[in-house]
Formats: sequence, structure tokens, C-alpha cells
Amino acid sequence: MLFKLIILGAIAYGIYRLMGGKILPDKKSNENENKKLPDDTMVECDTCSTYVSVSEAIKYKDKYYCSTECLEKKKES
Ligand SMILES: [Zn+2]
Repeated sequence: MLFKLIILGAIAYGIYRLMGGKILPDKKSNENENKKLPDDTMVECDTCSTYVSVSEAIKYKDKYYCSTECLEKKKES
């Protein structure tokens, strides 16, 4: 009987530890999404290798493109 209580106690403690680590809401993932490069950063177009500023570039699947034409070309190929 005592042995059973010890096991139960260990399980309860394990659950408590698990909950304790994950009880706080995950705020960090949201912050990372809003993180942006400064507008004057130059990025290379993935299709024609022209450098354009981030504010003018088109971002698609983590790559930058100088124009919609370049983006379309990449999508087609
Ligand atoms: Zn381009």
C-alpha cells in the first residue's frame, strides 16, 4: 500500500513539473514574426540578381524579388 502511494506521488510530481514548465503563454513566436529588416537593407533578387531595397522588394517563401515578373518567372520554373 505504501509502495503504491509513493508511485502515485512520483507521478503527481512528474505531472506538476511538466505543467510548471509550460504554464506560461508562448509570446515569443509572435514577436519573431513581426521582426523585419530595416527598409534600406539591400537584398538580391533571386531571379536576376539585381539588388533592391527591402521596402521595394517582393518577398516570397523567404526569397526576395525585384519585381512581380521575376517572382512569376521563379514560380513557373
Ligand atoms: Zn529580378
